[in-house]
Amino acid sequence: MSVLVLADIAATGVALATRQAVRAAQHWGLPVDLLVLGSTEAAAHAQIAGVRRVLHADAPRFAQPQAEDVARLLNSLAGDYTVILAAHGSLARNALPRVAALHDVGMISEAVALLGPNSYQRPIYAGNLLATVDNRPGLQILTVRASRFEAAAQGGQAECVAITAPAADGRSRVTGQKTAGGERPELGSARVVVSGGRSLGSAERFHACLAPLADRLGAAIGATRAAVDSGYAPNEWQVGQTGTVVAPDLYIAVGLSGALQHTAGIKDSRVIVAINQDPEAPIMQLADYSLVADLFDAVPELVRHLHTEATA
Ligand SMILES: Cc1cc2nc3c(=O)[nH]c(=O)nc-3n(C[C@H](O)[C@H](O)[C@H](O)COP(=O)(O)OP(=O)(O)OC[C@H]3O[C@@H](n4cnc5c(N)ncnc54)[C@H](O)[C@@H]3O)c2cc1C
Repeated sequence: MSVLVLADIAATGVALATRQAVRAAQHWGLPVDLLVLGSTEAAAHAQIAGVRRVLHADAPRFAQPQAEDVARLLNSLAGDYTVILAAHGSLARNALPRVAALHDVGMISEAVALLGPNSYQRPIYAGNLLATVDNRPGLQILTVRASRFEAAAQGGQAECVAITAPAADGRSRVTGQKTAGGERPELGSARVVVSGGRSLGSAERFHACLAPLADRLGAAIGATRAAVDSGYAPNEWQVGQTGTVVAPDLYIAVGLSGALQHTAGIKDSRVIVAINQDPEAPIMQLADYSLVADLFDAVPELVRHLHTEATA
């Protein structure tokens, strides 16, 4: 038997989360196959080290895949696999529970550590506790928090196999799609994230203050729920327990308090920098570097310094 990994969708090329999911999949010591939706990126995925076969299903509907169709496809393949796994992205966390339900097995969501063939750690209570979950033996279906796993290296030479997808489910259709960050990197996989809180005061000031810094650093922009609820930033930018979990190399927290529900989404960041005028704000305890300052002075000054550095 073997492990099947559902590849994450990247606009082009191989998503970092896919390489991290492949590394997680190697935990079972079984051959690892990768399922790619569409055929154009199959060859690129075949270069991930440790992958035996890339199964690619080509159908126009997979340009904008629906959970129902992906679940049907995974279900048609499930009989050959001991484990079906994916990074905890929006498509996987919608499709995999459907497959688990069809097989009447448990669904493990967002595992952060793999402890045995059917034993996992996953966060609960906004990431403040880790639960150890022993799943029943048999087919394992799970998503993993990709940032907790090293990425599999390049250099593989997997076989590419075209497969036929079952007929479309047909009960839902995509009427539109927009990228949350526009031209910016995708929030969940960005190497640098600049996040703002309620203190920015308005949508205009949120953008005017944070965009130049994000532009200078090639960063994604995130927001607290309070900032989103106040209409300063779109819903898709929310970072935290009920938003996106991020794991960048650098997270810059601008004028946000560091509530547990927010920090639940940033704990895997490599370096956290906080700018806050209150030295007692919880984010200042979590941050690797904290700057006690008014953000409306500090951020423009930082941008100026970065500009000077870049042009020196
Ligand atoms: C079930 C549930 C789920 C939730 N999920 C999320 C989630 O996913 N993500 C999330 O973010 N929140 C979430 N929340 C909300 C969370 O509890 C906090 O309310 C929210 O994160 C606070 O946002 P904030 O830090 O922007 O605002 P505030 O708590 O108002 O903090 C503002 C901070 O800015 C500082 N400040 C003010 N002015 C300036 C200035 N000029 N310069 C510098 N610093 C300044 C203040 O000192 C303060 O620390 C959730 C809440 C619940 C109940």
